[in-house]
Amino acid sequence: MSDQPSQTRPAWFFTVDVEDYYHIEAARHVYFQDRWGQFPTHVEPNTQKLLDLCDKHAIRGTFFILGHVAKRKHHLAKRIADAGHEIACHGTMHDRIHRLGPRRFRDDVEYTKKMLEDQTGTRVIGYRAPTFSLVRDTAWAIDELLAMGFEYDASVFPVWHPQYGVSDAPLSPFMLRRHDQSPAILELPPLVWRVFGRRVGVAGGGYFRQFPLAAMKAGMAQARREARPVVLYFHPWEFDPDMPRVSMGWKARWRTYTGLKRALARLDELLQWTQGRDATWSRLDAALPTLRELAASIPPYTLAPGRAPVAEGELVEVTSAR
Ligand SMILES: [Zn+2]
Repeated sequence: MSDQPSQTRPAWFFTVDVEDYYHIEAARHVYFQDRWGQFPTHVEPNTQKLLDLCDKHAIRGTFFILGHVAKRKHHLAKRIADAGHEIACHGTMHDRIHRLGPRRFRDDVEYTKKMLEDQTGTRVIGYRAPTFSLVRDTAWAIDELLAMGFEYDASVFPVWHPQYGVSDAPLSPFMLRRHDQSPAILELPPLVWRVFGRRVGVAGGGYFRQFPLAAMKAGMAQARREARPVVLYFHPWEFDPDMPRVSMGWKARWRTYTGLKRALARLDELLQWTQGRDATWSRLDAALPTLRELAASIPPYTLAPGRAPVAEGELVEVTSAR
């Protein structure tokens, strides 16, 4: 039957946002962008831990690489690509889209897209925004991504969260557009678990490091039952118990620094659990035809009807308020 998922349909996606401990949004007040080059980099050995784990479980995933990392460690993208993973783009300076207008956004993203393509010799077609910052206020970025030649986006988190999220966006892949007349991009949202009438983002981050793995497993099992793809995300710094600690509010501190020591063993356990679950792991780009087919079965989702782009003049104030 055409409305049933086929047994061979790829359904599980391991993704990594490749960035260092000094790129974390919550530590922005300490690690100023113009000093990033002075901090010791930990990203390479931590990324290697993830590559080794992927090898162990025969998983090939998608790595959204930050331009600042790719510039500092110019052989890293090639090494990840040579290990069989897809290389995708996480922008250059980890600015939330809110801080950029359309022109600065285009410069930031296009710079890294081109650098990654030069370093690996392959076309980069996937994008994920820093801190899932593609939201209603930044819907203009969809048109920019399409103009730059991206074929999919993985930045819209269909949950409510104080810093990000589009709480009524579809949970399965869908076609995302700025307004009803504008072109749409394929959107691949991170995993959400529906429980007690709420949406809980169990794709990675705090839910991975600080809560029992049962929450992620329940979310993954529910998605499997509903024939929804599972998109997970991790960061190399989450596997870095030695990263320097900086002062931040207790909530941010808890979200950022809890569970680092046990993270690698937990991820190993989670991946081990999936091996017995009829899980087919895939890179996002390798599954695009299937994901497009899924998206076509859902009405296009309009993010911000008729909203005008943020004026460049508004940006200075936001940036200097950090
Ligand atoms: Zn990031």
